[in-house]
Amino acid sequence: MNMNPECIFCKIIKGEIPSHKVYEDTDVFAFLDITPINPGHTLIIPKSHTENIYTISESDFEKVTKIVKKIAIGIRKGLESDGVNVRMNNEKAAGQDIFHAHIHVIPRYKNDGYEPWHGKKGVSPQDLRKAAGKIIDSI
Ligand code: AMP
Ligand code: ZN
Repeated sequence: MNMNPECIFCKIIKGEIPSHKVYEDTDVFAFLDITPINPGHTLIIPKSHTENIYTISESDFEKVTKIVKKIAIGIRKGLESDGVNVRMNNEKAAGQDIFHAHIHVIPRYKNDGYEPWHGKKGVSPQDLRKAAGKIIDSI
């Protein structure tokens, strides 16, 4: 198991920093976010330290996303949320602060004050086609 002694989430897995654990198996750990959008906001992480979506193994990513689904259902049912957001920040520009890969599962309620993100309107079909082409060429 890859561990980074400096990493705050590795310390949480080891129990060196306390957390509100909601799930654990041999490869995956899930705990409550300490500054939640709403109470129950959960972070799901691979136990093996890795920075983000680019570096996580396919196998760990599959295991993590399987638990993401379980927890989304648990949040919906247990907390009677009206909806659930699933979000992963990768790299500083995308809002990543902790560099141990993690997926946020966030309970949402009608009128909880958090807006869905607002996309740019009026992007041309040519720009969309160009972007699609570049992604396709890079997969
Ligand atoms: P991100 O911005 O995607 O890297 O998210 C990092 C998340 O980790 C933030 O939402 C923080 O509130 C959360 N966080 C930081 N330290 C802790 C901690 N000790 N226990 C639980 N959550 C934490
Ligand atoms: Zn770590």
